[in-house]
Amino acid sequence: MLVVLSGPSGAGKGTICRELLSQLPEIRYSVSVTTRSPRAGEKDGVDYYFVSRKEFEEMVARGAFLEWAQVYDHFYGTPREKVEEYLASGYDVLLEIDTQGASQVKERFPAGVFIFVCPPSLQELAVRIAGRGTESPEDMEIRLRWAENELKDVSSYDYVVVNDVVKDAVEKIKSILTAEKCRCARVMQER
Ligand code: ADP
Ligand code: 5GP
Repeated sequence: MLVVLSGPSGAGKGTICRELLSQLPEIRYSVSVTTRSPRAGEKDGVDYYFVSRKEFEEMVARGAFLEWAQVYDHFYGTPREKVEEYLASGYDVLLEIDTQGASQVKERFPAGVFIFVCPPSLQELAVRIAGRGTESPEDMEIRLRWAENELKDVSSYDYVVVNDVVKDAVEKIKSILTAEKCRCARVMQER
């Protein structure tokens, strides 16, 4: 099962992904490729593959991405091969990607599960981005402006989860995944 999490920067997607990965042994995280610089503590190959703009363009040209998009001033993409490898090995795959990327994935994997993670409010979103302390004031401003647009895409997702308390949001997503696995169409397809 392919699981896509989207939502504005600071909504808590990364926090939720880490929890899901520690609790669900059958799920694998798709590490994205990005042209943005690593934040303090981020590791190449774990949080992202950090590449130059030229390397990213070469990957686009050779069809290495399942999807890719420009988000803020940077490029982000999902390496195709790893996702296909995990799915072929029977794992669920978790993608944490923006709304443009999610719509590309939906075209290729219509049976994927698309979940939008919302902050309780835009005010709380600003508090969380500031609290994370990883962005300059200009970058924070850009992310907050994007957030208002991203929130308009909610209706193209299957589920919306408000991340008020992390533990509750994680439980809701686990429930969604459990229910999705019981869908007749999915169960019949696997037989
Ligand atoms: P995203 O990956 O969506 O950009 P993060 O997971 O980095 O967001 O979370 C942004 C900040 O908000 C982090 O400092 C994180 O610890 C904090 N955070 C995440 N979820 C919650 C929550 N439910 N309540 C309070 N703070 C949260
Ligand atoms: P950040 O720079 O905060 O890690 O991520 C910024 C935005 O890029 C987030 O909305 C995140 O979901 C998105 N993103 C991360 N990886 C990918 C990817 O591989 N593809 C796309 N389309 N978006 C991504």
